[in-house]
Amino acid sequence: MNFEASRRFAQQKDKEDKLAKYKQQFYFPQIDGADSIYFCGNSLGLQSKQVQASVQQELDDWKNRGIAGFLNAKNPWMYYQEYFKKSLSKIVGCKEDEVTVMNSLTVNLHLLMLTFYRPTSSRFKIIMEAGAFPSDQYAVETQVKHHGFDWDAAVIEIAPREGEKTLRHEDILSLIETNGASVAMVMLGGINYYTGQLFDIKSITEATQKAGAIAGFDLAHAAGNVHLELHDWNVDFAVWCSYKYLNGGPGAVGGLYVHERYATDPSTPRFAGWWGNDEQARFKMKKGFVAKPNASGWNISTAQILNMASLKASLEMFEEAGFEDIKVKSRELTAYLEFLLQQLHHLDFEIITPAHRESRGAQLSLYFKERGKEIHEKMIDSGIVVDYREPGVVRVAPAPLYCSYQDVYRFYEILKDFD
Ligand SMILES: *Cc1c(COP(=O)(O)O)cnc(C)c1O
Repeated sequence: MNFEASRRFAQQKDKEDKLAKYKQQFYFPQIDGADSIYFCGNSLGLQSKQVQASVQQELDDWKNRGIAGFLNAKNPWMYYQEYFKKSLSKIVGCKEDEVTVMNSLTVNLHLLMLTFYRPTSSRFKIIMEAGAFPSDQYAVETQVKHHGFDWDAAVIEIAPREGEKTLRHEDILSLIETNGASVAMVMLGGINYYTGQLFDIKSITEATQKAGAIAGFDLAHAAGNVHLELHDWNVDFAVWCSYKYLNGGPGAVGGLYVHERYATDPSTPRFAGWWGNDEQARFKMKKGFVAKPNASGWNISTAQILNMASLKASLEMFEEAGFEDIKVKSRELTAYLEFLLQQLHHLDFEIITPAHRESRGAQLSLYFKERGKEIHEKMIDSGIVVDYREPGVVRVAPAPLYCSYQDVYRFYEILKDFD
């Protein structure tokens, strides 16, 4: 693709963009009385204008029908989690039987670790990123403790090499191989939240399983952002949240994937509740849990309808726009951002996100050796929402459903004029 660093070029790209119309279907945070440009979809995706009606529908059905809503609401609550299977299975690349929504990310990580982290005295180690998101670290720390191990003995952290910012793929694979028989689980983010690095999930899974261990991924920054084929890559399990690229709203219900070899086997260990029980038997109030023969067999409690309604509206937009087209635009929009940044020579900064498009999603993390905080403030003052992490990292995520080429150009323009 031949890009140009001009507003005219960005305008032309927006004109040719068949997803451009979706931008009008979102609400934008206001800065000085105007719509901001929003590059924080990697932290909290925006609210689409369809969300309100979707939540209102459930409020109305509750108001008008009470308990009867479980079977007679417009979208019967009893089966609410079913409505997500089709769209989510396309987004994460799996069979409908392998995916469900429930709880939230860290809770689901704990629940699936209860299923999949079953350490023995010889095989008990977990490999994870040294720079993993804090919640994932706390989950792993307390899981190994729960099984009577301590962090130092049970957790192997993989870090970038001296002087580098991202992980080398070959280092991940060799660490798995070297620790082989002592590794119970490899649990990585699909995309690291800080650097924006996307891991090669397929070959990591392969190496993990070759070592006899379980491959699990936290896809918080990957779901709805990049191409995934969880089933074909043979991933054992994965969890994600729905409020980043999936635009489900703050604290939206989380998603999980369990490979069908476990999902269809009701004897796979888990912590259970009535919502994971075979529906035919659910109200017979009999003893003895019979798991549904799919990922919904991990559901525990009554579906959180009001919470799920906003994600439902958002996924309908993903269906309508088509995830394939969303990914195509995302790659190009981020490539355009990268191209523009490469034209800037007066600022001392580095894009720490990998340059290779197979190793990243929408986000670019920019490390400013100095004045990072000032640049962040300048952006906010100019009506652009980006995020800042010490030391000096500005994360920019042009989400394809509501960011335009002109938005990206505007970001560049401000940096260009920054002195
Ligand atoms: C956003 C994010 C979380 C947040 O977890 P919650 O349980 O939804 O609060 C956890 N892990 C990663 C990697 C994340 O990016």
